[in-house]
Amino acid sequence: MEKSNLIKFPQNESIQCPVCEQYNVQTTIENDTFTYDAVELTASIPVRTCNDCGFRFTDEIAEEVEHEAICQHLGVIIPKEIGAIRKQYQLSWTEFSEITTLDEVSLAHWENGELIQNPVIDKFLYLLKFPENLERLKKKNADNLLILQQNGYRARQRV
Ligand SMILES: [Zn+2]
Repeated sequence: MEKSNLIKFPQNESIQCPVCEQYNVQTTIENDTFTYDAVELTASIPVRTCNDCGFRFTDEIAEEVEHEAICQHLGVIIPKEIGAIRKQYQLSWTEFSEITTLDEVSLAHWENGELIQNPVIDKFLYLLKFPENLERLKKKNADNLLILQQNGYRARQRV
């Protein structure tokens, strides 16, 4: 696992205990083993323990870490890296979708870790990391538009 893929656990965050509602919560990193598609995976997740009432719980950070472990197991790009690919071009989901033809709603799901992209899309996303590939797509889209406009012109001429 690359270091850059690891989620940082903020140490000074104030977490509220969902049982006694106090903010005296301590975080420990524990190995969590879970099953995905009949395969056992292990992820280091933050476990919260309330110092007041003793309640132990996990939150969305643990879910995020487990999701990353699944992505790494499948060999696909993790959600925040997908977000980083789009954000390096400062494009909105709509703009990125217009250039790449990737479904806007799916893009949001992949970035939020709600769905995992299929392997073909994953390879496409990988290629989109490289600015020259995005530029090629933009040029192709512009060329297509030009051809459409020229065809439209010819169509009108025939009338
Ligand atoms: Zn508590």
